[in-house]
Amino acid sequence: MTDENCIFCKIINGDIPSYKVYEDDVVLAFLDISQTTPGHTLVIPKKHVPDIFHLSSDDAAQIFARVPKIANAIKASNPDIKGMNILNNNGEVAYQSVFHAHIHLVPRYSSQDGFQIKFSDNEKDYNDDDYQKIQAKIKKAFK
Ligand code: AMP
Ligand code: ZN
Repeated sequence: MTDENCIFCKIINGDIPSYKVYEDDVVLAFLDISQTTPGHTLVIPKKHVPDIFHLSSDDAAQIFARVPKIANAIKASNPDIKGMNILNNNGEVAYQSVFHAHIHLVPRYSSQDGFQIKFSDNEKDYNDDDYQKIQAKIKKAFK
């Protein structure tokens, strides 16, 4: 349930301080120290789980069910918030730096508010066969 070396477990246990905005029996939401944009908040499960790959469907359902109300509270806190990016990084290669699963809620104020995300469009490099091969591999991998 708790990992004694985990910084987010320490926050949950009150061993290190945080700016909490919401808490219940399932999740804790607190300000990300980096404040990529003002109001940048992390939602974390109270149970220590390293990443999405270790999360049960039931726990995921409970955790994600809390996100809309937290997102709405953040949005309602500032009339300048026009939108929100919601992200979950898994693995170092995907920019995960704290290995206790968390969801970033990043309020958006403008296209130049300091947050950027880039989805490359590689459609020109794929034909029908390529898509079908990838599709078949993923479909086969379901457990
Ligand atoms: P990620 O890179 O997706 O693993 O995100 C981890 C986030 O945790 C980063 O955005 C950090 O700024 C944030 N963070 C790390 N330590 C703390 C802390 N003590 N309090 C609040 N946020 C933290
Ligand atoms: Zn933890």
